Amino acid sequence: MQAQKAQGTEDLFGGYMRAWQHMQEVASTLFDAYGFDMIETPAMEQVDTFVHGIGESTDVVRKEMFRAVSGALYEQVMGAGSESGLKPRQRLALRPEGTAGVVRAAVENNLVPQGGAPVKVWYAEAMFRGERPQKGRLRQFHQVGMEWLGAADPAADAESIIVLMEFYRRLGLDASKLRLKINSMGDATCRPAYRDSVRSFILDHADEMCDDCIERAEINPLRAFDCKNDHCREVMAAAPKVTDCLCDDCAAHYAQVKAYLDEAGISYEEDPTLVRGLDYYTRTVFEVEYAGDANIGAIGGGGRYDGLMELEGGKPTPGIGFAVGFERIALALSDAGVDMAGEEPGCVYVANTDPDLRGAAFTATLALRGAGIRTEADYQGRSLKSQFKQADKHHARLCVILGPDEVAAGAATVRDMSTHEQVSVPMGELAEGVTRMLG
Ligand code: AMP
Repeated sequence: MQAQKAQGTEDLFGGYMRAWQHMQEVASTLFDAYGFDMIETPAMEQVDTFVHGIGESTDVVRKEMFRAVSGALYEQVMGAGSESGLKPRQRLALRPEGTAGVVRAAVENNLVPQGGAPVKVWYAEAMFRGERPQKGRLRQFHQVGMEWLGAADPAADAESIIVLMEFYRRLGLDASKLRLKINSMGDATCRPAYRDSVRSFILDHADEMCDDCIERAEINPLRAFDCKNDHCREVMAAAPKVTDCLCDDCAAHYAQVKAYLDEAGISYEEDPTLVRGLDYYTRTVFEVEYAGDANIGAIGGGGRYDGLMELEGGKPTPGIGFAVGFERIALALSDAGVDMAGEEPGCVYVANTDPDLRGAAFTATLALRGAGIRTEADYQGRSLKSQFKQADKHHARLCVILGPDEVAAGAATVRDMSTHEQVSVPMGELAEGVTRMLG
């Protein structure tokens, strides 16, 4: 039987892989200018890292996290019918998002000493969520994200949004094609009362709402704003608005974020129903949609999480971050007619007219590669004609041809594959000659 990939996963190769690499290169240049360093945390964390941060009652933790146990423990867990006998360090999950792991790493490595300089990091990583696979919704997908720990100022919220929008622009997505939605979710002072008022609203309208929403009223009422059921969302449109319930500090913070965005000329829509799915958010949250195709879903989002460091066992430290999904950006760019993959890379092909000259071809190939030139050669003993075909398949711009006369004279013929012009280059100067011809 032919092996198959896991449902909801994709192989990245060819143009798709080049597109992912391009996105990372754009991110690297952009984040560098804003003073962010790259970080990589493990793909696997203790389950508690996500439970503490994202929240026990969220869909991501309850339904979507891929749990992992070592082979040695697998039989034990299956036999017991649950992993409850495992120690916390044995209960593992593949990361469904990047923030909790980065914050755990910051706490564990003491990256944010009290009163110290902010930590600014970015990542490009695979994430794993057990969702129903569909267009733009995978079980393993890739995100570029950033986390900025130690900055409580509303300017950090505005700058995070500005860098996000600049990232889209550099990838080729014009601001006119994007919808930026923002909201404030309040903080520990004002949110509990707001949650209670949403819970009461749902229970007062219980006969109009789906069973999931009634369950949400008890465990996570704000999630009812995200219900897939159209009727529930219509009912929720009349629910209390968080922006009417903010405490003075949160209201002032939100007003300042908007003032900075206005000053920077960033267009946004205020959406008081934008709650995002994770418990750790406080105050500013934001999400970006591609306006060209509503089915693609959000292409990025983030927010402030001032309580998360403490939830992960660290000292109180404000934080803000966002993540952008590669696969959905690829869909949006293809809809917008932008090619993120770029050209297939060209190369130089080393051909030999006679199998006896394979040694000379080996030496020439090494010399070119040593000079950093992408070089291909024949490894199948093909005829010269078929080597030329191979050279075309590899998009070779130049072909180095080694025949008995050339090799005897210590030279090689270099052929320009588009003009068919040929020049003789001494073997000792091959790399320099080829570099010159490649321009
Ligand atoms: P979230 O943490 O859910 O806000 O995700 C941040 C970004 O990751 C989203 O805006 C999407 O672009 C992307 N994303 C989230 N879930 C998936 C998924 N299952 N498949 C593909 N991309 C996703």
